[in-house]
Amino acid sequence: MTRKRIIYEGKAKILYEGSEPGTLIQYFKDDATAFNAEKKAVLDGKGVINNRISEFMMKRLDAVGIPNHFIRRLNMREQLIKKVDIIPLEVIVRNVAAGSLTKRLGVEEGTALPRALVEFSLKNDELGDPVVSEEHIACFNWATPQEMDEIISYALRINDFMCGLFAAVNIRLIDFKIEFGRHFDGDLQRTILADEISPDSCRLWDFDTNEKLDKDRFRRDLGGVTEAYSEVARRLGILKTSASGAEIVDFQAGPK
Ligand code: UDP
Repeated sequence: MTRKRIIYEGKAKILYEGSEPGTLIQYFKDDATAFNAEKKAVLDGKGVINNRISEFMMKRLDAVGIPNHFIRRLNMREQLIKKVDIIPLEVIVRNVAAGSLTKRLGVEEGTALPRALVEFSLKNDELGDPVVSEEHIACFNWATPQEMDEIISYALRINDFMCGLFAAVNIRLIDFKIEFGRHFDGDLQRTILADEISPDSCRLWDFDTNEKLDKDRFRRDLGGVTEAYSEVARRLGILKTSASGAEIVDFQAGPK
């Protein structure tokens, strides 16, 4: 077997050259990092679960008209995706105060926000992904005004859809981070959703108990990280549990 060429290696994923022109293979690692990679660990099986959860979310979003990079899952850890030029912004949508917002503005964790809050950070590890305003984005031309209109409109639609999807399985969507890319198809250029949507990039709390089912379990040393991610997958119907209690990834399940 010939080894695929690495295009980019990030903290939790590797991008390889794809089998067809204009495609890449996105490989989900078990590596977990937090606080700008100051904290690191390997969490057995995390990559397999995130590959499945991200596939599920991207397929569902495509079905409601949100264009995204997902083409098809290749195996346990890899998915074929459309190659894009990533817009260098982390787009964060918040419904409830948590994480950096609580520290930055002194808002108590768990405070429901009166409206969905969309924030942007510049993707730059050396600078620690600083929060930037739309004025900064326009001034330094990180995204065009038209791209920003599309990004904000998609981000709010994604939030509405995901809030409902998670609420249906008794999970409260606190916040999440998404990324967008420029996809070139001949002369046509489109802004599409890229990267991943998984418990690594969302805050997910059990509706009744407020138990954290996301990466905060790792950030805060709460333990049971992959178990929590598996619980999210199980509630979404991606992961089945056998009579003996063992987890089974059902590769036939999920939307076509
Ligand atoms: N997030 C992410 N990658 C990042 C920064 C944030 O996926 O580099 C996600 C994070 O998991 C949370 C949301 O974006 O769901 C908001 O994160 P926040 O700004 O509160 O940052 P943090 O608390 O991670 O510093």
